[in-house]
Amino acid sequence: MKRNELLAKNRWMVRYTHICTCDPYCLGSKDGRCGNTTYLNGGEQEQGLEAVAEAMARIFKHEGIDDIEVWQETDAERDARIAARKREEEDEARGIWWGMGGAN
Ligand SMILES: [Zn+2]
Repeated sequence: MKRNELLAKNRWMVRYTHICTCDPYCLGSKDGRCGNTTYLNGGEQEQGLEAVAEAMARIFKHEGIDDIEVWQETDAERDARIAARKREEEDEARGIWWGMGGAN
């Protein structure tokens, strides 16, 4: 599958809480716990929430993962993500172009 086709798929997302180990202590924490929302990249949702929790613990070193919610992007969310990505790439391309001009 080509990169653009991959990007155009509706991605799976996960939200969960974990023991706050943020340093400094983060403002979002409540009772010593805070949350994270991110994308699933390895198809963990197909193996169940246990697999999702293990993947998050491995990737982010989060402990005490709980309250896991997994859902798939809506088409609107997917389109917004792709549009944001495209803008970023355009900005980067312009940055490189300016950099090559390099007078200042
Ligand atoms: Zn925290």
